Amino acid sequence: MATYNDEAIVLRTHRLGEADRIVTVISRAHGKLRGVAKGVRRTSSKLGARLEPFALVDLQIIEGRSLDIFTQVVSRQLYGKAMLDDYARYTAAEVMVEMVDKLVPEERIPALQQYHLLAGGLHTLVTGTTDGPRPSTMILTSYLLRSAAIAGYAMAIADCAACGARGPHPWFHAAAGGLVCANCKPLGSAAVAGATAHYLIALLTGDWPATAEVPANRVAEAAGLVRAFLTWHLDRGLSSLRHLE
Ligand SMILES: [Zn+2]
Repeated sequence: MATYNDEAIVLRTHRLGEADRIVTVISRAHGKLRGVAKGVRRTSSKLGARLEPFALVDLQIIEGRSLDIFTQVVSRQLYGKAMLDDYARYTAAEVMVEMVDKLVPEERIPALQQYHLLAGGLHTLVTGTTDGPRPSTMILTSYLLRSAAIAGYAMAIADCAACGARGPHPWFHAAAGGLVCANCKPLGSAAVAGATAHYLIALLTGDWPATAEVPANRVAEAAGLVRAFLTWHLDRGLSSLRHLE
């Protein structure tokens, strides 16, 4: 059987029998992988402690017919405690890994951009942005906009979602695809402040200095728009999104 190595981030784990776990990861070179980690539910297992969600690990993998086997695991970055100590941070990280799991449906197909974006998103949640600390909601909203765009679900922000006219425009409609102009706005569109649109553009482009003075109500409004957009466009939405305010 072929053996290979890869760097990976743990998305989720679930139990398999008495002692084993099935671990789903996104890896740098091989995309999403599901593998069995043997014996990890024993309390003495070091392998188990290294395969908690959000952990960044080096894996040695034995290729199996349906499921691979994760043999050696070397921790590169364990976020466990930093995540568990902060509820907002933890729920944001949960949404991030669920998002990747959803946007990368196929296993063993490289998804390098999503891998880098998740690694960067988790790291930013714990260590802050290049411009200093920001609320977890802000970091998550930026992550969601960017990961959705990579997967082909770009929310229209700078231009009208319907006619493409240069914006940003003051109306939002989830089903229409984001911000829409006054001519195109469907019934039921919500009014959006210009400052909120500019803030969304900063989140999408990773312009952290532009987000330094954004008030909490604008952060919450923008998060709500992105959540509405994703709930509409991703099948069934993301279950963990409902934990977000
Ligand atoms: Zn339009």
